[in-house]
Amino acid sequence: MNTSEGKIRSKLHEHGTPTEFGTTYMPKICLSKFRNSWSNLEIANTSEISLHPGSHALHYGSTCFEGLKAFRHQDGTINIFRMHDNIQRLRQSSDLLCMPPIDTELTSRMIRHIVGIFRDDVPLPPSSMYIRPTHIGTDSSIGKASEPTKTSLLYVLLSPGGNYFHDGEAALRVMLTEEFSRCAPDHGMVKSGGNYSSALKHLRNAKMSCRADQVLFCPDGEIGETGVANFIFIDGGSLITRALDKSILHGITRDSVLTLARAKGLKIEERELSIEELLQRCTQKGAEAALTGTAAVMAAVTTFVYHGDVFQIGNGRPGQIIRSLREDLNAIQWGEASDPYSWLTRI
Ligand SMILES: *Cc1c(COP(=O)(O)O)cnc(C)c1O
Repeated sequence: MNTSEGKIRSKLHEHGTPTEFGTTYMPKICLSKFRNSWSNLEIANTSEISLHPGSHALHYGSTCFEGLKAFRHQDGTINIFRMHDNIQRLRQSSDLLCMPPIDTELTSRMIRHIVGIFRDDVPLPPSSMYIRPTHIGTDSSIGKASEPTKTSLLYVLLSPGGNYFHDGEAALRVMLTEEFSRCAPDHGMVKSGGNYSSALKHLRNAKMSCRADQVLFCPDGEIGETGVANFIFIDGGSLITRALDKSILHGITRDSVLTLARAKGLKIEERELSIEELLQRCTQKGAEAALTGTAAVMAAVTTFVYHGDVFQIGNGRPGQIIRSLREDLNAIQWGEASDPYSWLTRI
């Protein structure tokens, strides 16, 4: 790292810990360009990336990204959570979108390099440095509607942020629907902008029609996921969640929570869960539900809305087991517990 890069500091820390998620960025990004092969990593100003208006990404959707977090521990070390799993998933998304292949070693170096430059800006828990690797197709040819991009840009953007739910613990109201899909049925495992934008209109309608915070998409009447997070249901000592298939994003938080739940003695059932079974069981005492994802970690769901009927989950408050799973996960991320699964990369 050269010294001028080492001296770059955000204004943020002069004013204390950030509170709102995803609104502030570090002034530099790390990037590499693909043209037959990947270029050496470079540092560039966040404000200065330029794109040709005919770029493949802007017209034909060749874009994918990742979201992961770096945490500051009490001993001053900076630790990135499950970085290798996120890089593998970026590689998979890029492959499924026919984009240039991700070089996992280079991407790992890019992430560690840019986080290293801004290590003094990584806030203390519960805040963290959110890391957003982004891969976009850059061929400037609007004639390439049915051809993949041959060139691309990979950059790593950093955003220090506080709790996703700044007013404390979430208690979400979620609308269930079997009528629509979040995205194309074979594209659920791709982390790509197109999947998000195709889910938005359903969320907008659900917000207006029943004040829902999220829509839980249930293709063929089986519980899937929301537009942004995986879904888990807990009842009677079992944790039930959809098995991994092409229709859902293979969440790393989901995987982490399943691992921790298994260690706690919960029975893990990765299987189909019908709307009918969910609604029958959810009102029982002890039932709990949550959405899982890197940004929000685990957000409790306390109400379902289905065809206008309202169902209170369990006692209608965020569940105990979900809270304790979130605490277990945070303890590892924040360095307050050991890391038995080697989830952290220290930089
Ligand atoms: C990113 C994402 C998730 C959560 O994945 P994590 O690896 O846990 O962050 C879940 N569902 C969708 C649709 C996503 O895009």
